[in-house]
Amino acid sequence: MNDLLRQFLEKVQCRNTAEPEFLQAVSEVAESLIPYIEKHPKYKNSKILERIVEPERVIIFRVPWLNDKGEVEVNRGFRVQMNSAIGPYKGGLRFHPSVTLSVLKFLAFEQVFKNSLTGLPMGGGKGGSDFDPKNRSDNEVMKFCQSFMTELYRHVGADIDIPAGDIGVGNREIGYLFGQYKRIKGEFSGVLTGKGYEWGGSLIRPEATGYGLVYFVEEILKTRGDSLVGKKVTISGSGNVAQYAAEKCIAKGAKVLTMSDSGGFIYDPDGIDQERLNYIKHLKDHERGRIREYANKFNCSFFEGERPWKIKCDIALPNATQNELNGDDAIALVENGCFCVAEGANMPCTPEAVAAFNQARIFYAPGKAANAGGVAVSGLEMSQNSLRFSWTRDEVDNKLKEIMKQIHKLCVKYGREEDGHINYEKGANIGGFVKIADSMLAQGVV
Ligand code: NDP
Repeated sequence: MNDLLRQFLEKVQCRNTAEPEFLQAVSEVAESLIPYIEKHPKYKNSKILERIVEPERVIIFRVPWLNDKGEVEVNRGFRVQMNSAIGPYKGGLRFHPSVTLSVLKFLAFEQVFKNSLTGLPMGGGKGGSDFDPKNRSDNEVMKFCQSFMTELYRHVGADIDIPAGDIGVGNREIGYLFGQYKRIKGEFSGVLTGKGYEWGGSLIRPEATGYGLVYFVEEILKTRGDSLVGKKVTISGSGNVAQYAAEKCIAKGAKVLTMSDSGGFIYDPDGIDQERLNYIKHLKDHERGRIREYANKFNCSFFEGERPWKIKCDIALPNATQNELNGDDAIALVENGCFCVAEGANMPCTPEAVAAFNQARIFYAPGKAANAGGVAVSGLEMSQNSLRFSWTRDEVDNKLKEIMKQIHKLCVKYGREEDGHINYEKGANIGGFVKIADSMLAQGVV
């Protein structure tokens, strides 16, 4: 580790003790950026990176609400407004018991680079709560969302900060949040994305992250003259990203072998086809059921409490949550012949896993590039709201494909190494950084 990198990380660590996820994200980015910054003194002298790791603003608030028994419950709400150099803050809301300030700061930090990579004018932010919508009635979720927005509304707005969904925040939650914002403010505006089609949402937004991920993988495969046809793919998760990544893989002729949830994973050696995927969608989105039920229905294996990385595959798509694929998993994947790992989730691979992929010289696409399709279509939803107009499904899908191609190009531009290997992590970090850094330089010390 060079001196500048060590000194920089020590300072960040001192200031953000007890924030392991945030420190993990910063050190991963700093490792590729510091050597680049050393070659470009204008960024070094203006302390651009030191400013980027400091959120512009963090809002923490109490969320009190009444459950169905009439009892008072109290949760904690957050919004991290990380960077607005290239546009209003933009990033999802996560409702999950594991939500802490550290998790949201890491997500907001990643979001800054991801949004820049899309080429759209969006700054970075992230928010959420330790509230768990699982096993709650619709009425309780609505009460919680209304209380959450009763504080959040004063910090967000169509030109200020535009939240969206993430883990635990889907159509239902966005609907309740939007309804309360509209009621308090008395205005119908594009303050949230991921809205229903009937009331300002964009076609393809639900599919965007998963589809975009697969478009990105196709670009990677093209660099070796290859395609998805016949490839064996392992997927973790069975939520929004996982479902649509699986759908696009199936449509492109790949064989999807696994899906999972926090209870374990199912392995279907025949491949999950569209009909079986429809069962999973219904199970997860409407019945709020568990993935193990798939194994019972289709007579295949369920591995309780395990992750799917020991299953032999060509391509692995971790699509559940952060740090779900560790160094041992990575070694198992490489030894089993996996040659491409692309992150649908945010930071699902631990630093040890990423090191193992780099050492084996296999393709590794970090989430900030590979899963940027979701926020890209959120950006397109904002454009449609401003235009008071809706584009067709094909129009949005074609724009999404084009954006994923451009992100891939940027990664290649900044990530190609001397031996020809494309280091997508380095490419995405530098590719995202340059636009933000130049905007910050132009705007002075603010
Ligand atoms: P969902 O809530 O729809 O699905 C999350 C999935 O991950 C579920 O299958 C869930 O299982 C599983 N999961 C969640 N936490 C854990 C855990 N601690 N251990 C094991 N499994 C877990 O979320 P999304 O699909 O929207 O998001 C998945 C990932 O993709 C996140 O990292 C998110 O930040 C990222 N992402 C999402 C985008 C989007 O547009 N939705 C955009 C870009 C990134 P269970 O049902 O048991 O909880």
